[in-house]
Amino acid sequence: MWVKASPEEILAAKRRRRKRIVIVAVIMWIVASGIMAAIHGWREREALTIVSREEFIQRLPVCMFILGIVSFFAARSEMKRPTKICPKCEAIRRAKDGPVCKCGGRIVDITEVKWEQK
Ligand SMILES: [Zn+2]
Repeated sequence: MWVKASPEEILAAKRRRRKRIVIVAVIMWIVASGIMAAIHGWREREALTIVSREEFIQRLPVCMFILGIVSFFAARSEMKRPTKICPKCEAIRRAKDGPVCKCGGRIVDITEVKWEQK
């Protein structure tokens, strides 16, 4: 069952969540920048081709800059959208569902509770 987590556990869970979002954002940023820089034609609206190494190195900073901004805002918006749960019926809820679940339970941030075997 879901039980209330201690303040230290809440803090640790929030820290883990932030760290995970940052790691995912950085990996996506690097991989997407590499793909964007390596493939010619998506911007030029021509047939897609792999660019030469010189052109790749030339294109990479621009792609990293653009996707760095995109990744930053994606990570920031993800951090602002916490996962909510109803500890009573164990359903995952969205922030827009309001503070009370359909089953009557109170919806809380998932970092505020922890799973415990009965
Ligand atoms: Zn519920």
